[in-house]
Amino acid sequence: MGTNAHEQETIQSPLVWHPQSAADAWQLKQNFGADAVYAAGGTLLRTQWESGLAKMPAHLIDVSRINGQEEPIREHESGMTIDAATSLAACRSDALIARKLPLLAEAVKQIAAPSVRQLATLGGNVSSLVGDSLPAMLVYDAQLHLFGGAGEHWEELSDWLAITEQALLSSQPASRLLIGITIPMPEGTADSHTVAPAQEELVSKTKRFGAYYKVGRREAFTPSVVTAAVVGSINSSGVLEHMKLAVGGGQTIPRRLKELEAAFAGSELHAATLQRIYDGVLDVYEPRGDLFASADYRKSTAANLIVTELWKSAAEAVTGGW
Ligand SMILES: Cc1cc2nc3c(=O)[nH]c(=O)nc-3n(C[C@H](O)[C@H](O)[C@H](O)COP(=O)(O)OP(=O)(O)OC[C@H]3O[C@@H](n4cnc5c(N)ncnc54)[C@H](O)[C@@H]3O)c2cc1C
Repeated sequence: MGTNAHEQETIQSPLVWHPQSAADAWQLKQNFGADAVYAAGGTLLRTQWESGLAKMPAHLIDVSRINGQEEPIREHESGMTIDAATSLAACRSDALIARKLPLLAEAVKQIAAPSVRQLATLGGNVSSLVGDSLPAMLVYDAQLHLFGGAGEHWEELSDWLAITEQALLSSQPASRLLIGITIPMPEGTADSHTVAPAQEELVSKTKRFGAYYKVGRREAFTPSVVTAAVVGSINSSGVLEHMKLAVGGGQTIPRRLKELEAAFAGSELHAATLQRIYDGVLDVYEPRGDLFASADYRKSTAANLIVTELWKSAAEAVTGGW
C-alpha cells in the first residue's frame, strides 16, 4: 500500500507511517483504530501531548504528503480549492487568497507566529474543530473533500462540524480524512466585465461588506476568546439584503448563526434592529466558558463585534461612503 514504518527511536515514540494516498491513510486508521491519529504539521498535537491533554498514540499517520497536487491552492470554474496539507504560511502569502478570500487571509494572519505557521496546515486547523480559520470558512460556505468508508465525498463544513461534534459526544470520533477545502466563489468576486450593463447600477447601489475578528491574547498561545466572521450586503436605503454570521473561539466549535441570518434579511438596519440582533446573538450563541473568559463575556463580545460591523457598514451604505 505504499507505506513505510520507521523504527521507534525511544520506547515512547510512536511509529510514523507515511501513506502516499488518502485511501492508504484511511486504511491505516481503520487498522489501528484509537491507537493511531492523523498528523499534518503536528503543531496542535504536540501541544496536546506536552500539556497532557492527549496521550501520544502508538501510531502517527503522516498526512502531509498525500494528494500532492502541483498547485495546492487553485482556482477553477466553481471556486477555489486548497489542499488540506497546505501550510498556513503558504495561505498567508498567497495572492489569490488575499484577493478572493480576504477573510480567510485575515484569519490565517492572526493564527500563531510565523514559525508555527510554516508547519501548521489549514487541514489541521479545520480538523481541530476549533481552529481560528473556521468562522471565515463558514461564511464562505466552504465544502470539505473527505475520504471515508464510502470513498471520496463532499460535505458542507457546517454540516461536518455538527456531525463530528455529535460523534465526539457519543465517544465515536470520526476517522474520515480531510483531503481539501473548496470555497465556492463568493458573490462580488466576479471580474467586472462579467457584470451585465443592466446590473451595474444595482451593484453600485449595494454595499457588500465582510470582516473577520479575533479577540484573544497575542502575547502567548492562549485560545482565542471570540472569533467572528460577517459578510453581507446593504442597500443605499439601509436595508440589509442578506448576511452570513459565524462565531467561535476558545473550545467552542464555531457555527453559523443561520436563525439570525434568516430573521433579519430584508430588515432596515436602524438602532432598534441592531439591538434585536445583539439580543439575538446572546440568545442563540452558546459558547463554552473556561479559565480565560466566561460564557457570558464571550457572548457579549461576539454580539458587540457583529453589531459594530453591521452599524459601520450600514452607515457607509446610506452615506455612499464606499
Ligand atoms: C504556539 C502555538 C500557537 C498557536 N496559535 C493558534 C492560533 O492562534 N489559532 C489557532 O487556530 N490555532 C493555533 N495553534 C494550534 C495549531 O497550530 C493550528 O490549529 C494548526 O493549524 C494545526 O495544524 P497542524 O497541521 O499542525 O495540525 P496537527 O497538529 O497535525 O493536527 C491537528 C488535528 O487535526 C487532525 N488532522 C490533521 N490533518 C488532518 C486531515 N488531513 N484529516 C483529518 N484529520 C486531520 C489531527 O489528527 C489532529 O487531531 C497554535 C499552536 C501553537 C503551538
